[in-house]
Amino acid sequence: MSGSKARLQAIEAVKGHEGPAGIFSAEDDLGEIFGENVFSKAVMQKRLPKTVFKSLLGTIDHSLPLDPVVADIVASAMKDWALEKGATHYAHVFYPLTGLTAEKHDSFFEPDSVGASLAEFQGKTLIQGEPDASSFPNGGLRATFEARGYTGWDATSPAYILENPNGNTLCIPTVFVSMTGEALDHKTPLLRSQQAMAAQAERVLKLFGHEDPAAVVSFAGAEQEYFLIDRSFFFSRPDLIASGRTLFGDKPPKGQEFDDHYFGAIPDRVLAFMFEAERELFKLGIPAKTRHNEVAPGQFEIAPMFERANVAADHQQLLMVVLKKVAQKHGMECLFHEKPFAGINGSGKHVNFSLGNATEGNLLLPGDNPHDNAQFLVFCAAVIRAVHKYGGLLRSSVASASNDHRLGANEAPPAIISIFLGDQLADVFDQVAKGGATSSKEKGTLIIGADTLPHLPTDPGDRNRTSPFAFTGNRFEFRAPGSMQSIAGPMVTINTILAEALDHIATEIESRIADGAEFNLAVQKVLEEIIEDHGAVVFNGDGYSEDWQVEAEARGLLNLRTTVDAIPQLITPEAQELFETYGVFNHREMHSRYEIALEHYVLSVGVEARSTLEVATTSVLPAALRYQTELATNAAALTAVGIEFDRSTLEAVSSEVATLQSSLAVLRDELGAEVEGGVLDEARFSCDVLIPAMSAVRASADLLEAMVADDLWPLATYQEMLFIL
Ligand code: ADP
Ligand code: MG
Repeated sequence: MSGSKARLQAIEAVKGHEGPAGIFSAEDDLGEIFGENVFSKAVMQKRLPKTVFKSLLGTIDHSLPLDPVVADIVASAMKDWALEKGATHYAHVFYPLTGLTAEKHDSFFEPDSVGASLAEFQGKTLIQGEPDASSFPNGGLRATFEARGYTGWDATSPAYILENPNGNTLCIPTVFVSMTGEALDHKTPLLRSQQAMAAQAERVLKLFGHEDPAAVVSFAGAEQEYFLIDRSFFFSRPDLIASGRTLFGDKPPKGQEFDDHYFGAIPDRVLAFMFEAERELFKLGIPAKTRHNEVAPGQFEIAPMFERANVAADHQQLLMVVLKKVAQKHGMECLFHEKPFAGINGSGKHVNFSLGNATEGNLLLPGDNPHDNAQFLVFCAAVIRAVHKYGGLLRSSVASASNDHRLGANEAPPAIISIFLGDQLADVFDQVAKGGATSSKEKGTLIIGADTLPHLPTDPGDRNRTSPFAFTGNRFEFRAPGSMQSIAGPMVTINTILAEALDHIATEIESRIADGAEFNLAVQKVLEEIIEDHGAVVFNGDGYSEDWQVEAEARGLLNLRTTVDAIPQLITPEAQELFETYGVFNHREMHSRYEIALEHYVLSVGVEARSTLEVATTSVLPAALRYQTELATNAAALTAVGIEFDRSTLEAVSSEVATLQSSLAVLRDELGAEVEGGVLDEARFSCDVLIPAMSAVRASADLLEAMVADDLWPLATYQEMLFIL
């Protein structure tokens, strides 16, 4: 294979690559490794006095307030444990609205007159930190003179040790709030929304006769998709480095159409990476299983076991950090962008969620008897109402410049939020809807509480891959979240809209009972109404089809194709009322999130546009001009000796060069344009003007890639990046 010097060097580097050896040995006991770097309940039980441990469990499992005396003892035990594990520093870890993970590091050791001595690590150090927060996005929540933000220990998410060849760090998961207590992060609203959902779910359980139901929590299990490419190629692509995706690249001769990638042939270095990543995750108490993915070349998936949503969200963030680090160690770059390669399958992060408690187990699991099934149907109906009523909010919870390349483009899942129930459950709801009617299907009319309600076996095989929100037997799978985003945002929305729906259901049942209705009949009526009012969101067909776009519109479902269409959903009066009612966000917090999301969009598109301009001007155009010169020189030489010259190649290249130059001029102009108005206008401009201007440049560049001599082409090709590992 030929190519420009940089590309040749990259390819040589890949060929010579030797991975780190001896990562995994047969003697390793995974059971022993699991959680070895976690300040887990087991560790706490061993190291804390009984009463302190019990009090802390109250905080972790039952949301009881934390006793400061307990915090002091926990801090001391945590420090001893961390020092034994070789930690020299501790860090409050928080999740600002950049979507990334932030850490404020402090040393356990302090310089003093004699040398270094062990600093105190007290309860108050554990509980609260005060990072200089001026550089984190706040959407107007903090006046610039008030740059302080506070981190606060989240005892429900375990502390852990992050290893580094230069020293280990004790990491303490925290919330991040402003001086006035307003949320500047992803964790605070997640904890609030969890509480709101739990209160309403417990109300419903009480109506079903569970007198003192155990605390309800939401669970999340995220399937993370990602690409791996050799780092040498990564470094030869300034567009990938700047924006996380390739802004140029002609389709490879062979793409994903054969569906044959990596079946039984995971390259050794990828396998070595997977082993090490799994091992590192195990140490951190993250039960994850890597596997290859057949969809796109170079694309893989990792799915940690589901956990409480708050812990799952933290673990998900940590997982991305670990994958990136381990990949780099193996000479590869892990790409989390939703669409790193145009024309090749993108990456998502399916969020599987359910809710449950210690006594009832999973509330989305169909039961064995009609009474249990009635309860199950109520929780499913709550999801149906929530998703129908607040589909726009769900869409906005997954909106970003990068995820727009999946949603609303020609890829899974569509931007229209609908629910897939599967044939059996859809049929049950159909029958419930006709509850009082005399006409009935062969199973007989369903009356809740009567034994005609059939046994509902879980059927995880019943799948519809085109639905953004699918019931998969014992949970719902939200498939729209992007591979790069935190799952906290989607879970905040899911918890909150479920709180509203469960509240509605409980209130309706209570009022019917107050009016003298029998319980089962009251439930039956409420379910009927929900299907009547919200059944339009249920769609079991092909979500990719053109017909669905038309039908969805007729059903009144939103089709918010871009981030700019979706983000204003955050500040509709209904949304603000919802979040305020359930104590998840106040008005100011909602506005701040709205601003931050749009700012982030404008920044992302801006980076891409500038990177497109630069790479096209300094790499693509020069390569095309050189080739043009070569052809022209050749033409002149041939003409001089009287040999006829076929001008078609030279003409085609020249014409595309001219097109590229004029597209570049447009892009340069638009990048310099002043946009009037606020951040929404800027975002609109990015979407409607900058993105098309970038696409025009790319179109010419990609055509030129297919024409210009390979040894002159400066950028690693799709073929090289996707197939050489
Ligand atoms: P798929 O067939 O969708 O690939 P997986 O077996 O990979 O299914 O599971 C996907 C994710 O769903 C995993 O993270 C798993 O732990 C999670 N999951 C399984 N059961 C539940 C549940 N009851 N609630 C939430 N998540 C769950
Ligand atoms: Mg799945």
